[in-house]
Amino acid sequence: MKKEVIVLNCGSSSVKFAIIDAQTGEAGLTGIAESLGNKNASLSYKLNGHKEQVALSENASHSEALNVIQSIISRTGVTPIAIGHRVVHGGEKFTQAALVDDSVLKAIEDYASMAPLHNMANLKGIVTAQQAYPDLPHVAVFDTAFFQTLPEKAYLYALPKSLYREHGIRRYGFHGTSHKFILDSMATMLNQRIEETSIISAHLGNGCSVSAIENGRAVDTSLGFSPLEGLVMGTRCGDIDPSLPGTLQKKLGKSADEISDLLNKQSGLLGISELSNDCRTLEDAAQQGHEGALLAIELFCYRLAKYIAGYMVAVPTLNAIVFTGGIGENSSLIRQTTLGYFAHFGITLDEQKNDAARFGHSGQITATNSTMPVYVVPTNEEWVIASEAATFA
Ligand code: AMP
Repeated sequence: MKKEVIVLNCGSSSVKFAIIDAQTGEAGLTGIAESLGNKNASLSYKLNGHKEQVALSENASHSEALNVIQSIISRTGVTPIAIGHRVVHGGEKFTQAALVDDSVLKAIEDYASMAPLHNMANLKGIVTAQQAYPDLPHVAVFDTAFFQTLPEKAYLYALPKSLYREHGIRRYGFHGTSHKFILDSMATMLNQRIEETSIISAHLGNGCSVSAIENGRAVDTSLGFSPLEGLVMGTRCGDIDPSLPGTLQKKLGKSADEISDLLNKQSGLLGISELSNDCRTLEDAAQQGHEGALLAIELFCYRLAKYIAGYMVAVPTLNAIVFTGGIGENSSLIRQTTLGYFAHFGITLDEQKNDAARFGHSGQITATNSTMPVYVVPTNEEWVIASEAATFA
């Protein structure tokens, strides 16, 4: 019997939904309701290969979108066995997925102080879905859980320790479901047990992170207390001098929230290129000689290469470096430019394989004489959420 799971990812103005076969990862239905709370709210989905668009009322709410999603799901004829909810912040409480009960809902609300936009939207999604599907197990799958194995030296900031004890100020890490999927896939590809698999995994999408995974356990990761630290991202700055937010507030006469907006939404590839946060647009522009696009790609790859090199310290038994996410899976240019920094470590690309690795292709992209294999593996966060939720059914 098929084990089909509804996967829900409620953001501040969107709801992504899918029906996933927990055993095969196959998606019968995928869709997204966007611009919720705005004039142009809309919903689109793909069912068995056919795309459909549904009109939502102006300023449609999450509840309205979830009602429409429920009716779409009922028309598929699928009998779901569970609902898996993506939850961004699980603090230190959740080291794995959890069956939702009152104490789990309370904890998600408590951690909202650390991820206000995300956790409150996630919570809203769970509560609304519980009303729609009262008889199904609802399972919260946390972005942070995979990183609860980080050692103190990796998760603590060099700040007064009382800030950690009293306010939970530490590195939490995000994109955990993606890095976990990459770890599991690499163990299968290398034909070894997860507990003996060591990788550096680079998830490069609109948000970007690198994780160091030693013998199946995360030992370091580039996203920190919030999903702002580390790599250059689409619109997020990643690492900067910690004195800058205060300095900018004074110089520009802006509030803390306005500076946060600048660092989160106006920086990264978009800020440097002064053109776009979209890697495809930047690659096309770079080909035409657009200086901002060329510079943004250069910064992106240099920062990424430095992180990968740094994590080689954290993973002495390294088996492979892996690229994933929209950029990691598709951009041969970003992979080539990043790995170019490793030529003197003996890491050499097979250019044909690198060029061919896109649009869902999975495999090795290094030459046979490379000192370290590098892989491209398409991620599948929904499958991780579905399979974890299915264990509670
Ligand atoms: P994600 O958040 O994982 O969906 O990734 C989104 C990012 O992947 C955007 O910056 C896209 O421009 C980038 N991307 C998707 N397809 C390609 C492609 N064929 N070449 C380069 N970048 C791509």
